[in-house]
Amino acid sequence: VELERLGVHESVSHVFPPAKLATSLVDLSIEVAVIGDDEIDVCDAVVTLEYREAFLDLHWIHSIQAGVDRFPFETLEERGVLLTNSTGIHDRTVGETVAGYLLMFARRLHDHVANQQQRRWDRPEWDAAFTLPGTTACVVGTGTLGRGVAETLGALGIRVTGVRQSTDSVPGFDEMFATDDLLEAVAAADFVIVTVPLTDETRHLFDAEAFAAMRTDAYFVNVARGPVVDEPALIDALEADDLAGAALDVFETEPLPEESPLWEMDDVIISPHCAAYTRDYFRDVGEIVRENVSRLETDDDLTNRVV
Ligand code: NAD
Repeated sequence: VELERLGVHESVSHVFPPAKLATSLVDLSIEVAVIGDDEIDVCDAVVTLEYREAFLDLHWIHSIQAGVDRFPFETLEERGVLLTNSTGIHDRTVGETVAGYLLMFARRLHDHVANQQQRRWDRPEWDAAFTLPGTTACVVGTGTLGRGVAETLGALGIRVTGVRQSTDSVPGFDEMFATDDLLEAVAAADFVIVTVPLTDETRHLFDAEAFAAMRTDAYFVNVARGPVVDEPALIDALEADDLAGAALDVFETEPLPEESPLWEMDDVIISPHCAAYTRDYFRDVGEIVRENVSRLETDDDLTNRVV
């Protein structure tokens, strides 16, 4: 395939300046330019965050996210459009974000930040703070995110169990459970961390039954996709003190609506879908794009191909 013009769609600006990526790819043999919606038709490939119908006339779409649940797989297939994603680059970023949430809960740092806003010198209850070694984290999904989380938490002395479709062992995990045994796996954990993609099978994987299976002193972390969780069921469990708390980076509706009760809960940490942010994001995406431009030139199979 002869690519001539690769567009960096302006929607990537939610994650990094589009020009940073375009500039880092200037040495490619094809033309690379930052484009808006009205310039899609002059390209034959695009790097993007969001989906646009006009992409259906292109040869190749590269998503700067790992999650591509917003793209219409069947239509892309029908129209012969290739889709690749950015899985493989978010292991350390998301791993460190999750480690941060767990340290906040264990060391009560979120309470201190909240008190500081009100100039309050309030110490935690004597038995509120704890340390992480000896605790167990159950990571549901053992791909790039899951492995990065396991490695980072393992380094903090946390015992890490994994839930995956098979029970084959994965580096960094101390014990594996099959997806069918999800309830058993979460029941044994101090922290449950969700890292699966959003698919028909994972939609509302975490429902009232899953939260009821968790210990009442356990924390729930979602860095995957909002709809993997039945959000009203999570809110009910938190309000009933059936869980100790939650750290949430993704939500059923984003931005999280102002009226959501999650905003005001003491033991809920909210981050605005940025668990994977890093100043190196454009470089990490650039490496995948560069690799695939060269594979297209030599008619090789694309890396990270989804459709
Ligand atoms: P990946 O493809 O490397 O890993 C996904 C893993 O989930 C695979 O091992 C797959 O086998 C497993 N899986 C799929 N369905 C499952 C099921 N029903 N039960 C158990 N395991 C199942 O992808 P990744 O890079 O690890 O990303 C995973 C997801 O995390 C993405 O699809 C995206 O939605 C989300 N994500 C969020 C952020 C963020 O900023 N919060 C960043 C990156 C990725």
